[in-house]
Parts: sequence; C-alpha cells; structure tokens
Amino acid sequence: MHNNKNILLTGTAGFIGSNFVPYFLEKYSEYNLINLDLLTYAGDLKNLKECEGNPRFKFIKGDICNRELVEFIFTEYDIQGVIHFAAESHVDNSIKNPGVFVQTNVNGTFTLIDEAYKYWMNQPFKYKQEYQDCRFHHISTDEVYGTLGDVGLFTETTPYAPNSPYSASKASSDMIIRAYNETYGMNTVITNCSNNYGPKQHDEKLIPTIIRNALKGNSIPIYGDGKNIRDWLYVLDHCKGIDLVYHKGKKGQTYNIGGRNERTNLQIVNTICTILDKKIPKKTSYKELITFVEDRAGHDKRYAIDATKLENELGWKADENFDSGIVKTIEWYLTKYSFENINVLE
Ligand code: NAD
Repeated sequence: MHNNKNILLTGTAGFIGSNFVPYFLEKYSEYNLINLDLLTYAGDLKNLKECEGNPRFKFIKGDICNRELVEFIFTEYDIQGVIHFAAESHVDNSIKNPGVFVQTNVNGTFTLIDEAYKYWMNQPFKYKQEYQDCRFHHISTDEVYGTLGDVGLFTETTPYAPNSPYSASKASSDMIIRAYNETYGMNTVITNCSNNYGPKQHDEKLIPTIIRNALKGNSIPIYGDGKNIRDWLYVLDHCKGIDLVYHKGKKGQTYNIGGRNERTNLQIVNTICTILDKKIPKKTSYKELITFVEDRAGHDKRYAIDATKLENELGWKADENFDSGIVKTIEWYLTKYSFENINVLE
C-alpha cells in the first residue's frame, strides 16, 4: 500500500459519491481514497457503510471551504488527484436559501482547486516533478446549460445559461475550473451530467419522494402540470463515466454524461406507481395519490444531454435503461423504508 496513490474525494457521503466510492475502491487497488465531507443534512455515513474497515478508505468530516483543513489534507496525505462531488445540490433549497450554495459550490470549489494548484505546481504551467500527472476532476450538472424547447440536446459547446441559484453556482464553479486550466495550465476535467437516480438518493429528491409518499398512502406532489422533462441516468452509469473521464479524458476538456432517457415527471410517477401496483397491490392504484402542486419558481422545462463526445472518444455507454434501473431503485427503497418502519406491506 506504500506505493499507492492517495486521491481526495469530496462529498462522498451524499448520493453520487457514495455510489462511486465502493465501485472505485473495488476497481483500483492501487488507490487510497481520502474522503472529505461536511456531513450536512444531505450526507450520511450510513451510505458508506460497505467501505468501513477497508484500509484504503479514510473518512474526514470537514468543510471544503476550510482552507487550513484542505491544505493540511493535501500535505498530510500527499494528495495526487481530486474528484470533487461536494455541493449543495437541491434546486428547491437554492431558491429558499441561495447563500450556502454560493459558499459551498463557488467558494468551496475555489478553495479546493487553489490548494491543489499550490500543492502540485510551482508556477503557471509548471508542475512539480513528482506531481506531473495529478488531475482535478470537477463533477457538474447539465443544468448549467439552462433549459431546452421541445427539440435539441445540450452539447459541450452549448452556451451556459443557468437559471436557478443552484445551477448558477455550479456554472460559476465550472468557470473557476476552466480558468485554472487556461491560466495556470492545471490538468482539469469537468463532467456535466443529467439527472441521476438510484440507491442512496436523499429523501427530498423526486423519485424517493414519490416512492415514500406512495408507500405511506400520502398524496404524491408533482409540480405544475408534470410535463417538465429530465434526462434520467442510473447513478452507476454516471460513476462509470466519471471513472473513464478521470483516467482517459483530455486535459482541460468537458464531457457531457447522459442516458438518452427523457421522461416527463408524469411518466416517472406513472411508471413508479405501475410497478408498485404490481409489487404491493392495494385496493386502489397508487396513481390515485398523484396531486399537482404549485410549480417551482423558474422551473426549467426540459433538459436533455448529447453524450456523443464521451461515447465516441472514450467508449462510454450506459448499461442501464430507465425501465431496468427504476426497478432496481424501487427495490432498494422498499428495503430502506421497511427498515425505517414505513409499513410497506400494509
Ligand atoms: P448530495 O446532495 O446527495 O451530496 C452532497 C454531499 O456533499 C453531501 O454528502 C454533503 O454532506 C456534502 N457537502 C455539502 N457541502 C459541503 C461542504 N461545504 N464541504 C464538504 N462536504 C459538503 O449530492 P449528489 O446528488 O450526490 O451530487 C454530487 C455532485 O454531482 C454535485 O456536485 C452535484 O452538483 C452533481 N450532480 C448531481 C446530479 C444529480 O442528479 N444528483 C446530476 C448531475 C450532477
């Protein structure tokens, strides 16, 4: 283990990071993973239970905005790569409380890349001898591109047009990463992914909210007319895309990741209710619980990703389609909620 590389991963007690870490730990025995997460309301160490006790897994509770801590981690662990997931990630929260989004997503990203720059490089375009290959991978979202009409897809050259405080903060963080590549010659990559779904997603997000409310017999809230479209990707396919870009992506480049699985929110809720009607039938269909609620302010109409660059350059393709991935996801939540005493078999 002495010759192993230490990689810093941030935000891994959250949804995507906690799916990524077990996959990455298992695949690369030559890496030690140093995990930094503040454990905000969105982070939960239970999500990383399967990594506990692994000698190549180290968890540190702390804030990516804390410069002294970040500097200490780089030095103490001789960090040789960064994969940066940590963020405030829920659009609804960003409408109510945008400040913390700017703090974590913008200032936090700046702090991390600036410390990486100082630790790895002597001056612009001059890496220190022993850190030549060190790379900073920033995880971002398709929401930076704004919203689409009925046709068209986001490509890597689509102009940025973020609409919510969340997407604006993510767009800002992408720009900082871009600047560190252009100005200092840092080895950076950015991935912009569409909506993820799968195990370990926080209860506040759309798919867990639908499943939980259906199981409890509560009304299932759907924004507006339910016709907003998102491009859904199974979380492990996102993780595989990150792995490919981290190892094989071209320096300074951006790669879009998306599953070509566009669905309206109404299609999502109907699909989930249909599956639940078969798995745990009740007297009436779960669809009876669907309730339309006042739309989210500034609700983007449609997101859809063109992942051609990642597919053609790096050979990525999604292993899961929505119909297979949603069944796995529902099964995971049925187990989780039955442990939380939501009586799924009533
Ligand atoms: P999440 O909200 O589930 O997890 C975020 C994690 O970051 C949590 O564990 C939280 O404790 C941690 N965190 C928050 N502030 C922190 C801080 N100041 N310092 C250290 N840790 C902090 O988010 P997610 O859905 O797993 O998203 C991960 C990344 O992927 C984010 O950057 C997000 O923008 C991006 N992304 C998410 C999606 C999606 O559909 N979920 C899609 C595309 C991109």
